Amino acid sequence: MQLETVKPSPVTQPYHAHFRCFRGCPGEYSVYDVIYTCPTCGGLLEVQHDLDALRLRSADEWKKLLDSRVGSTQWPYGSGVWGMREWVMPDLRDENVVSMYEGNTNLFWAERLGKQLGVSDLWIKLCGNSHTGSFKDLGMTVLVSVVKQMMQDGSPVQAVACASTGDTSAALASYAAGAGIPAVIFLPQGKVSTAQLVQPVANGAHVLALDTDFDGCMRIVREVTQDNSIYLANSMNSIRVEGQKTVAVEIVRQFDWEVPDWIIIPVGNLGNISALYKGLKLLLDLGIINKLPRLVGAQASKANPFYQSYLNGFQEKAIIPAQKTLASAIQIGDPVSYEKAVQAIQMTNGIVEEASEHDLATASALADLTGMYTCPHTGVALAALFKLVKRGEIKSSDRVVVISTAHGLKFTDFKVGYHESKLDEVESQYANPPLYLPADPQVVKSTIARRLEAQLQGALNGQAA
Ligand SMILES: *Cc1c(COP(=O)(O)O)cnc(C)c1O
Repeated sequence: MQLETVKPSPVTQPYHAHFRCFRGCPGEYSVYDVIYTCPTCGGLLEVQHDLDALRLRSADEWKKLLDSRVGSTQWPYGSGVWGMREWVMPDLRDENVVSMYEGNTNLFWAERLGKQLGVSDLWIKLCGNSHTGSFKDLGMTVLVSVVKQMMQDGSPVQAVACASTGDTSAALASYAAGAGIPAVIFLPQGKVSTAQLVQPVANGAHVLALDTDFDGCMRIVREVTQDNSIYLANSMNSIRVEGQKTVAVEIVRQFDWEVPDWIIIPVGNLGNISALYKGLKLLLDLGIINKLPRLVGAQASKANPFYQSYLNGFQEKAIIPAQKTLASAIQIGDPVSYEKAVQAIQMTNGIVEEASEHDLATASALADLTGMYTCPHTGVALAALFKLVKRGEIKSSDRVVVISTAHGLKFTDFKVGYHESKLDEVESQYANPPLYLPADPQVVKSTIARRLEAQLQGALNGQAA
């Protein structure tokens, strides 16, 4: 006689995820293997979750579970990413989670900016309020945790490496240092901000500044990581997407599980817009939402291969030399996650827009005048928003979320340059330089009176609106 086997309760661990080819070639691979691309076609991999197992919980049960973990002190659920661990990396063991309690960033109502624009339901998802100051932390906590588990289970991996336009390296260096794993960082010489450069330096990474651009660094890091002892942490590695996708879930959760009409995001290598779509698609597959927002990918005109591809109806992938742009984190000419991003745009009836240097700096300055402190990439997204409102694509009653991807404090040179009217191709119409006065109460009083009078009359740019 056979004993009836007891099914494991869904609460413990029926969940599982593995790699598969994004283009659909046959084959499944462990997420703990050193593998970045499909062995058959060379295309990108993606992490596939066991949807049947996930559906053992109802949509309402999932919502309740995730809600209950927000702000929890129970480790690691206080992290916005690990609070949804079953959807991210289900078979990662607790002791290998490397977390700085990333995620759970504020989504706030941009009341005054929205009013000025005529879109009153405008929201900013401030992903730059994170451990290393950009939304790259969301993916890096997952990647470094997976590497820690790999190393513990006897993998040949000894170090992690990435090429970066700044924020990826800051995130990788920090999480690797948190776990005690060596990190090697490849940066394009002179093309990242001082704040970004100094982060991996401070975290003890091996920082190699190469005499090339980002795409050149990317080629070198791919070469170096051919050998399985150094693990590639760029977004070609689809583990990171699993963490980055949590921003989509967070946004929907922060609206009490309602879907906004639009989400606008600045894009470079295209990993993040792909992740956004992947997170939304999971919510749809689990019956938690029943429609998708329209996604907008915003590019700097100086580095706009995705915009060019969009204009040709995605008939072919445009690859260009990326020119220097203030939005340095998206100065990329040959985006790795192109095919995934095309799917994200097509499946959401999305749009790709571009912004000139002047437009991105102006949009950023206008937002700052309503109390924000925006990085140039957020400026690109805001400039795209302004254009789409003007064109009538975005309607005044639409609910719009702009993803602010990095903290403005990482881009001090951009802010100083703007307010000193020293940025190339930018006319600083909202420059607000400090006034240098003698320590004379009369001069000070009359100056304040003059300034306040001018502000009340709206003569000081942008400040009275
Ligand atoms: C990485 C990054 C982006 C773009 O993300 P991709 O995945 O490269 O498209 C946008 N803004 C900032 C600040 C970034 O660091």
